[in-house]
Formats: sequence, structure tokens, C-alpha cells
Amino acid sequence: MKIGVLALQGAVREHIRHIELSGHEGVAIKRVDQLDEIDGLILPGGESTTLRRLMDLYGFKEALQQSTLPMFGTCAGLIVLANDIVGESGYLNKLNISVQRNSFGRQVDSFEAELDIRGIAKDIEGVFIRAPHIESVQAGVNVLCTVGEKIVAVQEGQYLGVSFHPELTDDYRVTQYFIDHIVQGQQTHQV
Ligand code: GLN
Repeated sequence: MKIGVLALQGAVREHIRHIELSGHEGVAIKRVDQLDEIDGLILPGGESTTLRRLMDLYGFKEALQQSTLPMFGTCAGLIVLANDIVGESGYLNKLNISVQRNSFGRQVDSFEAELDIRGIAKDIEGVFIRAPHIESVQAGVNVLCTVGEKIVAVQEGQYLGVSFHPELTDDYRVTQYFIDHIVQGQQTHQV
């Protein structure tokens, strides 16, 4: 599979590494016309206000709103996939969820936790950096993981979103799940 990583901001190289470790080809996506060449897209973390501004500027908002490409958003990437951002409006409207930005409080700006992610593994190391959480989900959204009361991973159809940064560890199982189950699953479906 050929998997793109939106390369406007964030840990692009690290995501490409996880795609390669999963046995697939990773490509940095800087222009909208490159979307035609890929089977799935990863939206990295960073700062979602800046990310949205850059996506507006380079035409990604409209292109991705119209696209049915499987997408995987991490942290700020999750925020842009949501159809509701608390106190702001939704952006790509792909996941029927409400996200709260920077929701783990100042004292725990960044932390790590061992995560039990349904359908993936029980021992995924989650790196959270000024992370959002998912405050509520609508029908059709599968909750894959929570930390305490807070939802931190969801899947809805071909869209996967997590609050943390899987690409900052050596464990590539979340990316592998996205490609092997969601991207390839969708292709089998279409044939
Ligand atoms: N706090 C950032 C935001 O709200 C997200 C942080 C991240 O992607 N690590 O956009």
C-alpha cells in the first residue's frame, strides 16, 4: 500500500518510518494533487490552529472534505478530523465526535500511559503531548480506548483518530492496524 503523511507540520518522518516498518510505502504529501497517488493518509500532530490555517492555504480542506480516502489522525490530526471542536467549529467533519483541546490540564501537559486499545493490543505505549480528548461520540463511532473517563481513540468507518503520538515510540502496531485493517479492508470492500 502507498500511504501518505500530510507534510505541512509535525512528525512526518516518524510516521513514514512506522509505515515502512509496517511493510508499506510512505510518502510525504505537500500538494493536493499527490492525494490521487495514495491509498490512505495520516494527519500528524502539531498545533491544530496552525495546521488548519496551512490546510486552508494549500487547498487541503476542500480536497479532503470531498475525499473518501481512509485517514488516520494523531493528536492535532484527530482534532481536524472531528465534526465538533469544543468552543470552535469542526473542520473536516469526518469523525462524528466532539473533541476538547488541551484537555489533560497544565500539571500534566505531557505524560505517557500504557493503553489497552480494542482490536489492536493491550500494551501500547501512549505519548500524550498537550493532548485533546474525545468528549462525546455519536452513533456509529467505535470507542477503542479510554484513559480514566476520557476517550482517547476512536474509529468510524475508514477514519481512525487517537489523542496521542504513536509515531514517537518504536511500536508501530497502531499504524499497522490502520493500514492492514482499515486501508486494505476498504479496498477489499470496493473490489
Ligand atoms: N494542543 C494541540 C492542539 O490543540 C495538539 C497537540 C499535539 O498535536 N501534540 O492543536
